Amino acid sequence: TSITNHMPTAELQALDAAHHMHPFTTNDELSAKGARIITRAKGVYLTDSEGNEILDGMAGLWCVNIGYGRPEMAEVASRQMMELPFYNTFFMTSHVPAIALASELAKLAPEGLNHVFFAGSGSEANDTNLRMVRTYWAEKGQPQRSHVISRKNAYHGSSMGSGSLGGMTYMHEQGGLPIPGIHHINQPDWWAEGGDMTPEDFGLARAQELEAKILELGADNVAAFIAEPVQGAGGVIVAPDTYWPEIQRIVDKYGILLIADEVICGFGRTGNWFGSTTVGIRPHIMTIAKGLSSGYQPIGGSIVCDEVAEVINACEFNHGYTYSGHPVAAAVALENLRILQEENVLDHVRNVSGPALRAGLEKLADHPLVGGVNIKGLMASLPLTPHKATRAKFAGQTGTAGFMCRERCFANNLVMRHVGDRMIISPPLVITPEEIDVFMSRAKTALDETY
Ligand code: PLP
Repeated sequence: TSITNHMPTAELQALDAAHHMHPFTTNDELSAKGARIITRAKGVYLTDSEGNEILDGMAGLWCVNIGYGRPEMAEVASRQMMELPFYNTFFMTSHVPAIALASELAKLAPEGLNHVFFAGSGSEANDTNLRMVRTYWAEKGQPQRSHVISRKNAYHGSSMGSGSLGGMTYMHEQGGLPIPGIHHINQPDWWAEGGDMTPEDFGLARAQELEAKILELGADNVAAFIAEPVQGAGGVIVAPDTYWPEIQRIVDKYGILLIADEVICGFGRTGNWFGSTTVGIRPHIMTIAKGLSSGYQPIGGSIVCDEVAEVINACEFNHGYTYSGHPVAAAVALENLRILQEENVLDHVRNVSGPALRAGLEKLADHPLVGGVNIKGLMASLPLTPHKATRAKFAGQTGTAGFMCRERCFANNLVMRHVGDRMIISPPLVITPEEIDVFMSRAKTALDETY
């Protein structure tokens, strides 16, 4: 093809607009404006087609945990492509990358989670989970246990199943979501919805909505509860400390399966291998993707506990994807896990990058537009507000201030996304304190220009 990085930006933008339909985008708006075209990346910096160096405060889409441009990852992919570029794991066959990755994940996962079902993405993995928990109960002679409870404003993916598990109403408005049997309770977002309650009382009240929903549906009809340990795409919502212990008590009491969606929280983002450890829960199934390969290859999966795996393994589970356990993706993911361990990246998050990000954001919170800081490890959000003391919302359309701030960040060569009027932050885990200083100075300029 003659289309390369060296083409003028305007020509690339015109071709993009003519032929490329972007996800979660009003494409007509994008073609009028022209996409910012990213040409290469190294460490925590992206380069665009105009030569700007942009600090990536989102690690791509919360996934490039080891940073960009790691030659080891490319070498492993190249070697694996030469040796065995593809083989399936259906029909009584397996291969070494899938075996090795599943074994390594069983080692890293909390006790009792020893079995992995691979997928190509987080959405696919959550579809697996939905079918797996329903199949589990049917095999146990309780087919009526098919209802799954999730949370409003959760994000679990974009397919029919995972989009239904998610609680984004703007997604439910398109394409016939949610599918039947899925129910959403309120999220533990004290900042936006806590009113005059203390965070502790609010956390408890929101967790108890799970019990109320179980009783409403009939405890014997509920298969599972699914949640992200820290809600990511919903706006980095860190639940009050009272929330998760109460959720654990309720799922234990009614014998309901707990699915932790670790697609963002997994692989160090919250300072532990899994967000479940950070918030102190014991899931039966964990959804993984993104940081599993640091985004270098598309791969996801479900890490399943012994109890569920024993039942599923005894039947033919008629489910799977051509790329379940894809050898190149699996080899690359394994190399990513090796790098995370060899470079002690989790220690870095706990002791260096996490505390530096927290300190920087707490300083930014003095800004008149910033209402506070939500942070766990290396995922954070800054809610914008016209009035800190009351956590007031802006007059007019929600998201206008957030959108403006994101645009000002972009203009100042910083990627900081917004969800409504909340700025969200999730840089590569390996980010240094010096790079965090650059982040803060660009973010401060963007906030000043938004104010
Ligand atoms: N689950 C969570 C918590 C996510 O954040 C995402 C993606 O952002 C998904 C699932 C879906 O993953 P994918 O986009 O790989 O399908």
